[in-house]
Amino acid sequence: MKTFALAGNPNCGKTTLFNNLTGSTAHVGNWPGVTVDKKEGKYKKCKEPISIIDLPGIYSLSPYTPEEVISRNYILDEKPDCIINIVDATNLERNLYLTTQLLEIDVPVVVALNMMDEIIKNGDHIDAKTLQESLGVPVVAISALKEDNIDELMTIAYNASLNKRKGFTLLEKGKLSHLIQDVCIAFRGKGVENPLFHAVKLVENDELESKSHPDLLPMVEDFKHTFDDDTFGDDFEAIIADSRYKYISAHYASSLTKNQDKAYKTNLTKSDKIDKVLTNRWLGIPIFLVILFIIFHITFSSNFLFLGGLFKNVAPSFEGSMFEGLLWTSDGINSPGVILFNLLDQLTGGLSDLVASWFVNIPENAAWVEGFIVDGVLGGLFAVLSFVPQILCLFLFFSILEDSGYMARVAFILDRVFRRFGLSGRAFMPMIMGFGCSVPAMINTRTLADENERTATIRVIPFFSCGAKLPILTAIAGGIVQFFNVGNADVITYSMYLLGMITAICAVLAMRNTTMRGDIPPFIMELPAYHVPQFKALMIHLWDKLKHFIKKAFTIILASTIVIWFISHFTWEYKFLADEEINNSILANIGQLLQPLFTPLGFGSQLKSFGWVFVVAAITGLIAKENVIATFGALAACIIDSAIDIEQEGGDVEAAVAMIANTGITIPALISFIAFNMTTIPCFAAVATAKAELPNKKRFWFTIAFWLIVSYLVSSAIYVIGTWWWTLFIYVIIIVAFIVGVHYINKFLDAKKAKVV
Ligand code: GDP
Ligand code: MG
Repeated sequence: MKTFALAGNPNCGKTTLFNNLTGSTAHVGNWPGVTVDKKEGKYKKCKEPISIIDLPGIYSLSPYTPEEVISRNYILDEKPDCIINIVDATNLERNLYLTTQLLEIDVPVVVALNMMDEIIKNGDHIDAKTLQESLGVPVVAISALKEDNIDELMTIAYNASLNKRKGFTLLEKGKLSHLIQDVCIAFRGKGVENPLFHAVKLVENDELESKSHPDLLPMVEDFKHTFDDDTFGDDFEAIIADSRYKYISAHYASSLTKNQDKAYKTNLTKSDKIDKVLTNRWLGIPIFLVILFIIFHITFSSNFLFLGGLFKNVAPSFEGSMFEGLLWTSDGINSPGVILFNLLDQLTGGLSDLVASWFVNIPENAAWVEGFIVDGVLGGLFAVLSFVPQILCLFLFFSILEDSGYMARVAFILDRVFRRFGLSGRAFMPMIMGFGCSVPAMINTRTLADENERTATIRVIPFFSCGAKLPILTAIAGGIVQFFNVGNADVITYSMYLLGMITAICAVLAMRNTTMRGDIPPFIMELPAYHVPQFKALMIHLWDKLKHFIKKAFTIILASTIVIWFISHFTWEYKFLADEEINNSILANIGQLLQPLFTPLGFGSQLKSFGWVFVVAAITGLIAKENVIATFGALAACIIDSAIDIEQEGGDVEAAVAMIANTGITIPALISFIAFNMTTIPCFAAVATAKAELPNKKRFWFTIAFWLIVSYLVSSAIYVIGTWWWTLFIYVIIIVAFIVGVHYINKFLDAKKAKVV
């Protein structure tokens, strides 16, 4: 089967084209460098099926970033039958730089001139024919987004792949080209594949090339003596880059006709104008925080737009309406996220009642079946599923931020602040992806060149609260508001997300200045123009998320709730326990054994006979974070009915929340519980990914220890400071001492190193 590789700059539309060709629903994002993995798919509309590879986005074939090395090695070693070089037509000059390098390899190349819809919209014109003549390979104008001309592109690529192509260089004639030809002849004599490409690279002093062909170096140096450039001296990398750009600017312009109309100019500066504000030195971070808050407000607030005060005056006239509770409460109007949550919670509550009604007439000795199905399985499962609307709501907003190009700006803004402390913007991209799921985020750290920076980043990714941790946050934030009558759910949830981010940044900075020191490679990033996100792409995103979540609910979470129910209703001697005896169960015993460990965190032994509930919930969360709430849901019915005897009203989430509140736990302990679950060892899947991505076993075990220690420190600090506020001063003193200590130790070490050198 033939193989075609898609190569191009970041954000030129590779993934969009790839998805079109292969019909797969791979992630379409606006992150430069989102495609670190090799993505493969099949295109079936040609004479024979063709395997398509989506290479990482690159600006050149030099070995400066992992993406460049991956792409270069792939093309040279795997020898695809054709390279489809995707070129962003709205950024022709910059994109053609890579093209001039690809042409030097002995492989058929077809240039796909993408984003032609934008060009037409702007009233510009690009003549593919003229460009084709100056490049010497087929050029096809397409729009990956509008799916224009895609099949034609593939036909031309297919025809090109039938013949071999010899690489040629567009570098200016004259001395430089003589030099390259001479080296090329030497390579050819040695029978090296792709002699021209290697010759150019060797002349450039390319690091990889010099290492693999040391024998030719003296000869090249000899040739170089005959060559002297006035501007760049003997910096051959600069000479060649300059020569490429000279060729491009001399030739591409003839194919491009710009619209002289004002419309285009204002359009161009629109992105710049937005960026003046959004990436402003002082406003950038505050704006990001406000945007995040608005998202949380829409998703979680039960006092939407803070209209509660005004609403109180008119509320009585609506009293008794069927929509009360669903659309508003005495606090104010519900936000869209909360309304969706209420709808689903009522639905699942109704389903639970319906199922319960089937068991009305069952014999006494089979009553446990009802307990198992209604309270155990459905209670656990529905407590988790009720959060689907809010998870999707949050994801929709995150996807919009990502697809519009804003998230790339966030990395840029943060880079400016944190570079001084040893952290680059590149590291923030995977971290922000962690809001979705830690697994792809950890894989994405492959874009980081410095091994230590990569390890440090993998360690803190779980602190960026993922979708699965959301139910913990929401349920407990809801509980705090409802039972202690303080705060707003949106403010609490938002603060917890911030807490996770701040913990992550502090931890990564601490590591980068102590055990994980290392260089920070420069963060060069092309800020993509703002796009209005595509509705279809957003829906694909959400659908993926929903599928993943439902699948997880009916496999791993369902299985866990069943196990939890059984071990919470049996003793070690296989004796079945009634609800009120649950404190003697296997599960309770395990929890009771471990609960003293959690006393400093606020949810251990001080909760008396309830302490174990929190302990086991946190442990089941190691399988999947949703299990924390599923466990509460599964246990709620027995604990409420037996010990507290509250009439269970509303859905399963309410039952879980009521149970939590009635254990006598305090607010600082609840916050500490959330923080513990957010920062401790993540779920199985994330742990396995960390193991695969970390360089060695030792680092992996240190990472597990790191998670345990950080979660313990952060949670106990929250509980202790929250309970005895004045202890804050002790913590401040310890932290300041730590920072000062690290600063001086590093100074000392650096001085020592300088002496040795
Ligand atoms: P990649 O980084 O090369 O994989 O680029 P993506 O496929 O992720 O595309 C980056 C952005 O460009 C996305 O927002 C796409 O919707 C957008 N895009 C891709 N192709 C086109 C196109 O032909 N026309 C327009 N207007 N936008 C496009
Ligand atoms: Mg991509």
